[in-house]
Amino acid sequence: MTIYSGPVFEMARQQFQVIADHLEIPRDERDRLLYPKRAVVVSCPIHLDDGKLAVFQGYRVQHHLTLGPTKGGTRFALSVDIGEVAALAIWMSWKCALAGLPYGGAKGGVTVDPRALSPRELENLSRRYMQEMIPFVGPHTDVMAPDMGTNEQVMAWFMDTYSMYQGRTVTEIVTGKPVASGGTEGRREATGRGAAFLIGRVLERLKTQPAGTTAIVQGFGNVGSHTVETLANWGVKLIGVSDHTACYFDPRGLDTEALLKHAQKHGVLAGFSNQLSFDARELLVQKCDILVPAAVERVIDASVAARLQCRVLAEAANGPTTPDADEVLDRRRDEIFVIPDILCNAGGVVVSYFEWVQDLQQFFWDEAEVMSKLYHVLDRAFMQVMRRVEHDGISHRNAAMAIGVEKVRSAKNTRGLFP
Ligand code: GLU
Repeated sequence: MTIYSGPVFEMARQQFQVIADHLEIPRDERDRLLYPKRAVVVSCPIHLDDGKLAVFQGYRVQHHLTLGPTKGGTRFALSVDIGEVAALAIWMSWKCALAGLPYGGAKGGVTVDPRALSPRELENLSRRYMQEMIPFVGPHTDVMAPDMGTNEQVMAWFMDTYSMYQGRTVTEIVTGKPVASGGTEGRREATGRGAAFLIGRVLERLKTQPAGTTAIVQGFGNVGSHTVETLANWGVKLIGVSDHTACYFDPRGLDTEALLKHAQKHGVLAGFSNQLSFDARELLVQKCDILVPAAVERVIDASVAARLQCRVLAEAANGPTTPDADEVLDRRRDEIFVIPDILCNAGGVVVSYFEWVQDLQQFFWDEAEVMSKLYHVLDRAFMQVMRRVEHDGISHRNAAMAIGVEKVRSAKNTRGLFP
């Protein structure tokens, strides 16, 4: 039992144990690699529009400080607790190491339903959260970014709050900012386009042309919608889509352009169609070529995994697949090609890294340069994972994690006990 105990942390712990066994990491070294270096819990009092006071719990977990600053998003959601944030921070560490970024993993969050707040209340909470975090973050200590429930506007408020306390503009304190406030071209699209790029690489290996294949996407936020947009440009037919408000399915294909426009206008999928409504619990197990969970953790458990009918499972969300499901998928490895989360959604943090580098240098790149560098990094990570799968005879997730864990471990072992 630790303060992190809970289903999401347990998942990160179990995944790590599998890798630690595979890499034969001595028992006494394991806790040092797994448990976060720091965890901060803050109370964020704000004034609501009706004049009343409300207090929200905020968290930030910095997993390891061995390779440079820590890096990771900030989640505003009702599910947020210290265990979930810690698990997400640990996954960020393996993700950054796999992509070759000079960061440890971090994650933060506030337990709140951001949709229940007015724009002014959301601004108050965003600013207050950053204010509470000022002693613990910094451009060379811990660099925040968006995650579920936060966006470019929230990042601009974070950056502004930090900057006002420093008495100068410090754009490099957060990434995922609007381009107008020191953000980079391509960050908004990066995670979705990165996931689509990797799906493309997998289809090449499977000797399948994207045009005419079918896709189902769970989650239609920043990640899901940009994945859909890129796949649609390749002629992939979207047959199913869902978010927390609605689920649609049509084996003849959905009108992606109309869906994207609807979501842009209303912020959600609800209200798009009555005829196409479908049972959200059944969406993931419908027959398709490409299945993209792009929402929350633990949506594919062992029973869902046994019923999946996709050829490619592209994990754009963090932690969508439980360790029991991994065992099932391992048995089905010839049928289903898994692109594990720490590879599939790495595009976001890779372009966050580019944003940080550009802010530090005050030298900005155009979108084409950002994208070509992103695809280079993702391709390198993909090839490393594929080579590791063949060499060790392990699953794609275990190969990706083995590379990440090994990098962090060797940095720790060469530096010594402090970081
Ligand atoms: N929240 C995103 C993730 O889970 C992005 C993190 C970042 O850009 O630092 O990877």
